[in-house]
Amino acid sequence: MDQLLVALDVETAREAETLAASLRGVAGGFKIGSRLFTAEGPSVVRALTDRGDRVFLDLKFHDIPNTVAAAVAAAADLGVWMINVHAAGGLTMMQAARDAAHDAAARRGRPRPLVIAVTILTSMTRDALAQTGVATPLVDQAVRLATLTKEAGLDGVVASPQETTVIRRACGRDFAIVTPGIRGGAASATKNDQERTMGPAEALAAGASYLVVGRPITAAPDPREAARRIVESVAGATSR
Ligand code: C5P
Repeated sequence: MDQLLVALDVETAREAETLAASLRGVAGGFKIGSRLFTAEGPSVVRALTDRGDRVFLDLKFHDIPNTVAAAVAAAADLGVWMINVHAAGGLTMMQAARDAAHDAAARRGRPRPLVIAVTILTSMTRDALAQTGVATPLVDQAVRLATLTKEAGLDGVVASPQETTVIRRACGRDFAIVTPGIRGGAASATKNDQERTMGPAEALAAGASYLVVGRPITAAPDPREAARRIVESVAGATSR
């Protein structure tokens, strides 16, 4: 299922490749985050993109525009399908990221990667946000950053299931919303460290474009079967 992105939050390239091999044809893509990338480097990304897998490189770039543009170009050169930056980096930084992705893809004659932004990390609370000097309620700040992301010409945002509906309303249909924190329904109900969760069908019905699912699949005794159950459960759910 195109909308199902599996988070390969494992320690080694070997484990990542074994998981990817067991999930091909069921998952729509694989998310590689800072843990695996820092441990194993770009070769773990290339191993998947060379096989034609869609890779979401979740490194959440947040730096000055010139540096982010260069990092995004390097990611695009790896053949990734989706890249993200922090919306808090500002409009100019996000525009630089978008332009760099477009230019790098055009240079290599490849489809351009989707560039999305993180609004507010789901680990943040209202108090934690206030400590950084932002007194705005969490959801309002997430919508504000999502709107800025759209203005910068990016393709979408990462958002918690609870923020999906309001962001969809504010940013319209042609805006990707990538939603982690999937628990319950056909996914395992074990929350791990996730708090604000939703089942897969519910999250798609709320307006999510893509679901990021990690441990309910990767920690299951049979990851392929766990992924297949999720796919079956969302057949027929409203998706955008
Ligand atoms: O294992 P689990 O399903 O909780 O994995 C969710 C994945 O999504 C993890 O890689 C986590 O780092 C990532 N993520 C998240 N919340 C965000 C952004 C990314 O859980 N706001």
